[in-house]
Amino acid sequence: MKYSEHVYERPDFEKVAKSIGDVTQKLKDAATKEDFFAAVGEFDEIIREVDFQGFLAGTRYYHDASDAKIAEEFQYILTKTEEMDMSEYNNAILESPFRKDYIEKYGDFSIKKLEADNKLNAAGTEEMMREQELIVEYQRMKPNLDYEFRGEKISIGKLSVLTDSTDRETRIEATNSVNKAFVDKKDEIAKIIDEFIKLRDTYAKKNGFENFLDYVNIKKGRFAYGQKDIIKYCELVKKELLPVLVAVRHKLKKELGLEEYSIYDSGIMPENKMVEIDYDYEEIYNRVQKMFDDVDPEFGNFLREMNEIGYLDLAPSPNKSSGFAFTIYDYLNKMPFIFANGESTPHSACDLAHEFGHCLQHRYSELNLGLLSLGEMTQDLMEIPSKFNELLFHNYAEQFFGDKADCYKEQHLITFLSEIVLFCMYAEAENYLYTHVDASYEERVAAIEKIKEEYNEGYDVKVSQHSKDGVWLLDNMLVLTMPGYAVSYSFGNLASVHLASIYNSNKEEGLALYKKVCSLGGSRDYFSGMELVGMIPAFDEAAVKAVREYFIKALKVEV
Ligand SMILES: [Zn+2]
Repeated sequence: MKYSEHVYERPDFEKVAKSIGDVTQKLKDAATKEDFFAAVGEFDEIIREVDFQGFLAGTRYYHDASDAKIAEEFQYILTKTEEMDMSEYNNAILESPFRKDYIEKYGDFSIKKLEADNKLNAAGTEEMMREQELIVEYQRMKPNLDYEFRGEKISIGKLSVLTDSTDRETRIEATNSVNKAFVDKKDEIAKIIDEFIKLRDTYAKKNGFENFLDYVNIKKGRFAYGQKDIIKYCELVKKELLPVLVAVRHKLKKELGLEEYSIYDSGIMPENKMVEIDYDYEEIYNRVQKMFDDVDPEFGNFLREMNEIGYLDLAPSPNKSSGFAFTIYDYLNKMPFIFANGESTPHSACDLAHEFGHCLQHRYSELNLGLLSLGEMTQDLMEIPSKFNELLFHNYAEQFFGDKADCYKEQHLITFLSEIVLFCMYAEAENYLYTHVDASYEERVAAIEKIKEEYNEGYDVKVSQHSKDGVWLLDNMLVLTMPGYAVSYSFGNLASVHLASIYNSNKEEGLALYKKVCSLGGSRDYFSGMELVGMIPAFDEAAVKAVREYFIKALKVEV
C-alpha cells in the first residue's frame, strides 16, 4: 500500500493497555513453548499497530512542522507511548519456564534488555513524558526562529546552504546569522536546556541510578561498559586521531591560502577542489538507485520498492522539521521511510546512501528476528551499516561528481575523520552536563568551551562572541534531544572503515559480512555483535591505530 493511502487514526491507549494485559496473562498461562511464542507474537502485533500510528503522525509532522494539529497529535502519541507500562509483560517473560527458549531464539542480550527496561522505567514516568514534550518543543523551534541574511528574512534550509559557501564572507555572515537567531533566544532556550538536564537527572535517580549518564548507557544497551570507558575512548581518540585532524587543518589552511584559519572554514575546500551538483533530489535518487542496483540487486530492488510506495520523502521544503536526513520505521508494513530535506548538494546524495544503510539493517533484522523490540540495532552498532554506505558511495563517486570524484572523496574523508574525533567532544560535553546538574547556564557554556578548546587545535580563531554566548549548546539537537547518541557515530565510523577495507579487497566477502552486521538487529550488544562478525571493537587501541594509519595515508598528511 502506498504511503499516501494510509489513514491516521489516534490509537485508543486504554484499549491497548487492556490488550497488553490480556496477552501478558496468556504468557503467564502458557503451557507449551508454542503457546508462549504465540503470545510473544501477539504482543508484537499489538505494539506494531500502535507504533504505526506514531509513524504516520511522526512522518506527517516532520513533513510539515508548521501544521499545529499534527504536531499536537504526534506529541500526544509520544507522551502516551512513554506512559505505557511494559513491566508486567517483561516480568512474564523473565519469570516464565520458557525463558531459556526465549534466550535460545533471541539471544541472552534480549533478556538483559527486558531486565534493564524494567529497571529504567520503574519510576519517573511524569518526567519522561515531559521530556518528550520538550523534545518536540525544541525541534519545532529551529525552523521557526527569525533568520535574517543581508537584511532579508530567509529559511534555515537556504541559510544552511550558505554556511558552506565558497565565498568566505558569505559563509561567515550566514553562520553568524544562524548563530544570532539562537543567541537572540538564549534565555528561552537556556531554560529548556536546564529543564532537560534536571528532568533526566531526576528520573535517573528515581530509578536508582547515580546519574543520567549511567541511566542512558544502560538504556543504550551498554551493559558491558559505561561512561568511564567512553571517556577513556575519547582520550584515545584525542591521542591518536586528533593530531591527524589538526594536520588536515594545517594542510587546508595552506591550500586555501588563508592567513587565518577559523572554525568558519571547516568543511571548506580550495576552490579547485569544490564539488557542486547541478541536479535535484529526484536525480540524486536515480543515481543512488543505480548505485545500489550495482552493489547488490537485492538492495536495489528494496530501494525501488520504497520509492514506488512513497516511502522516500526527499523534496526540499521550508516547512520540513529539519535539515537532517533520518530514517523512521513502519514496523506494521515492515518498511523503512527516509525523511530528508533534499537540497542539491553532494551531502544530500551521500545522506541518502547513509539512510539507506539504516533501511537495509531494518530489512535484514526483520528477516532474521521478526520482533519489533529487536528491530533496531544496539546503539553502538547502529551507525555501522549507514556509515559503511557512505564509504561505499566513494566507489560510485564518479557517477555523481564526474571528474571531481576524487575531490569529493577527500572532502568526505575529512568529514568522516572529523566525526570520529568531534563526536567524542560531544560525549565529553554530555559528561559535564549530567555530572554538574546544578551548574548555571554560564558555567555550562564555560565548561563546554574548555572541552572544545582542545578539539579546536589547528584553528587560529577558536572562540567567537557567539560561542562565548553558548551557541554550540543552544543549537545542538543531537546533544539535547538524543543524549548518549553522539559517541555511536564515532564507533560507527571507526568500524565502517574496517568493513569497507574488507569489502574493497573482496566484494563478496565484504557484502556477506555487511549483511551479517545488518541482521544483528537488537539481539546483540556491541562487543558480542562485533565479535560475531569478526571485527575489533573501537575501545581497542589497535582498532584506533589502524584507522589512524588509514587516514594518514588516504588524506596524505604528515603527523
Ligand atoms: Zn545514521
